[in-house]
Amino acid sequence: MKKVVFTTTIPVEVVIAAKLQPVDMNNIFVSSNNSKSLVEFAEIDGFPRSSCAWIKGLYSTVAQDPPLLDYKDITLFVAVTEGDCSNAGVLAQIVSSKFNIPSHLFSFHPSQSLMKMRAEIERFAQSLGTTLADTVTVWKELKAVREDLRRLDEMSYENNVITGQENHLWLVSASDFNGDYKLFHQELKLFLSQAENRKPFEQKVRIGYLGVPPIFDIYDFIEKHNGRVIFNEIQRQFAMVESTADIAEQYCNYSYPYSAEYRFRKAIVEMKKRNITAVIHYVQSFCHRHIEDILLRKIMAEEMPGVPLLTLEGDKPQSELDGRIRTRIEAFLETAERG
Ligand code: SF4
Repeated sequence: MKKVVFTTTIPVEVVIAAKLQPVDMNNIFVSSNNSKSLVEFAEIDGFPRSSCAWIKGLYSTVAQDPPLLDYKDITLFVAVTEGDCSNAGVLAQIVSSKFNIPSHLFSFHPSQSLMKMRAEIERFAQSLGTTLADTVTVWKELKAVREDLRRLDEMSYENNVITGQENHLWLVSASDFNGDYKLFHQELKLFLSQAENRKPFEQKVRIGYLGVPPIFDIYDFIEKHNGRVIFNEIQRQFAMVESTADIAEQYCNYSYPYSAEYRFRKAIVEMKKRNITAVIHYVQSFCHRHIEDILLRKIMAEEMPGVPLLTLEGDKPQSELDGRIRTRIEAFLETAERG
């Protein structure tokens, strides 16, 4: 099956309606055994040290030899022009030009207008030779998958039987459903039926994780130090687990591409509902979103005063957390535990 690749969440329903395989390049990069060397490969190929490791890793999934994603199998590269970073826009230009892959520019309009979103989805559908009506049919089919993802998310904070890493992985993978949503759903149902019988986890510190997904695993380390992530903000947004009246509303409700204030205020509602007792804000080195930390601190002080907040910066993939990050998380969790 021919692939449609993308660097951030897009209306995956369109790709499925067009009978093509959706591939989120982030998932390919970060799940690779040698993600660190993918970053290095991009630097050798000319990417500056001062560009974020995600962009470099995404480039190398297609550019390294042999590639993780063979460009001959790619029908379309979808770049998001409004709602994603400029690095991703330039990456789309480089990949399209170097490997002769057609690209499509999708836009999340900042007005969050339903009418504009419907028109944008329809334009995308036409570019892939399908229709809005077929896309809506897929949207309806995916409802059951998204409902089960919502159940998984609820089991993380109500039943306490899902680890932070499991919550992260299932939700983040919903951007492309690992390329096969039917198989994804079968595996998810099996996982949920097994998780239901677990004994609840007992870590004391209930953590909200905000920011882009981490480039290395922090979840296991947190759990060994009496904390557990029960809310993964952006990953939950990627999974679109909130029920909406139609597909346009689903993508206007999705907070990631819109303003940081809108995003954080939405996250605060969820964190209050879950009785979060500590917040980790992950920021990626050389990412413009790092500055959003200033706004988050202001909103947290107004809305969740007294809840400790750790801003954690990550750069390159690492198989083991380095000493500095371990010490910071450990000290933070000790403080949060004392309340
Ligand atoms: S981490 Fe930031 S700079 Fe890097 S791709 Fe994501 S949004 Fe862009």
